[in-house]
Amino acid sequence: MKIVHTIKELKSAVAEIYKTKDIGLVPTMGALHEGHKSLIEKSVNENEFTIVSVFVNPVQFGPNEDYDKYPRTLEKDCILAQETGADIVFAPSPSEMYTDIYFTEKETTLVCPPYTYVNKLCGKSRTGHFDGVCTVVAKLFNLSKCKRAYFGKKDYQQFLIVNKMVEELNFDTEVIPCPIVREEDGLAISSRNVYLSDNERKLAPKISQALNKAEKLYKSGITDSKTLEDTVLFELSEFDVEYVEIVSLDNFHKIDKIVKDGSLILVAARTPENRVRLIDNKELWTNC
Ligand code: AMP
Repeated sequence: MKIVHTIKELKSAVAEIYKTKDIGLVPTMGALHEGHKSLIEKSVNENEFTIVSVFVNPVQFGPNEDYDKYPRTLEKDCILAQETGADIVFAPSPSEMYTDIYFTEKETTLVCPPYTYVNKLCGKSRTGHFDGVCTVVAKLFNLSKCKRAYFGKKDYQQFLIVNKMVEELNFDTEVIPCPIVREEDGLAISSRNVYLSDNERKLAPKISQALNKAEKLYKSGITDSKTLEDTVLFELSEFDVEYVEIVSLDNFHKIDKIVKDGSLILVAARTPENRVRLIDNKELWTNC
């Protein structure tokens, strides 16, 4: 496996390969874990060549967010990527990805998804976050010449927004959704889980348990969104809940009543001590 740090190296590495081989891309911010690993495995199974990008993208972080303290573990990441079968790890520096004007004026060409997709859920509290995500993903798609790109459903809104970008900007890349990987106790695995105190780590599985409870109620015939959302809120009384919302998977609009299978319940909540922002979601189907 090759580790490349510059755009020039990446471009020359893929220049010939993409003509004869399908390239799969797994975009990450590093601190790789079992969730990332499942995406890499899927890419390795479905493509002849897999590129894993490891880049903590400054453009998608707000001024008061955790950009500086985000865990950076490149050496370990490369071992995991290699052992999982990746062919290249692309780990550029911020100054490799953005020109000087970004660092002096906070300006760069941005890819901005539709307002109706970003004015809700995570986009509501994280202004500009999805502009940053789409911008870096568009750059990575161009640089890697990938045929397929792998995104986790843990960040469901991100997956839908990237899909929308691909459709509306006519990228040839296919966006592949991958299931959420969880710890044994149900906690959705995240690079940010390292911020949890011991007590918070014990508390954190309550989020997935609350979503399971809502799912159980839905399966028992309760279709009123508020009742289901209130159930989750009640279960998460120890957290500072940012949102609990049920949306339709068709258009991602908030729904008051679930009229057919295929809706999604999403939650974002901060832990009581270290205020770690945890997100999770569950697709609501009656027969699974
Ligand atoms: P990140 O490094 O957190 O930006 O995540 C990179 C990719 O891995 C995104 O597509 C995430 O949705 C995905 N991912 C992160 N955690 C998980 C998980 N627990 N299960 C599945 N996918 C995940």
